[in-house]
Amino acid sequence: MATTTKTAAKTASKSSSKTGKMEDSEFHEFFVDELKDIYWAEKHLVKALPKMKKAATSPELAAAFEKHTQETEKHVSTLEQVFGLLGEKVAAKKCDAMAGLLEEAESIISDTDSGTMIRDAGLILAAQKVEHYEIATYGTLRVFAQNMGHDEVADLLTQTLENEKATDVALTEIAVSAVNAEAAAE
Ligand code: FE
Ligand code: FE
Repeated sequence: MATTTKTAAKTASKSSSKTGKMEDSEFHEFFVDELKDIYWAEKHLVKALPKMKKAATSPELAAAFEKHTQETEKHVSTLEQVFGLLGEKVAAKKCDAMAGLLEEAESIISDTDSGTMIRDAGLILAAQKVEHYEIATYGTLRVFAQNMGHDEVADLLTQTLENEKATDVALTEIAVSAVNAEAAAE
């Protein structure tokens, strides 16, 4: 009854894919690799955001960087939780995009004078590029997680995604409410 066995195996693999047992698939491997990439990015942001806070003049912007540093620490621990749920070991893999964005933030700081709103406007630009990169990444990764049946992982990635979106909105508000007009007047 080889046919029956084959059908049973097929059904089993189909139902197991629904419950998220896709650990051997290439797509799963790709997903984990991308998680390592954003994990590297978040860990580096934890170090970069305090530097951006220090460079900021507007108290609102400094407070926003301070707040997002704490939130970014949470993003790091959330990813550690995600690796755990997937049964994968926690690992970081260099994210060239984030490395480039952080380099850009550093050159904005060195190209502008301290105590100016032009620097603050530049810091907001750099920070929003980072947030948009994160939004794109988490938006895609949570869909991957949903497709693979990793519902709890998808929920965790969605929480981080929503926080990145809120940060982006908060930065826009700071730019619009004060920094841009003051920078134009300098
Ligand atoms: Fe983040
Ligand atoms: Fe962020």
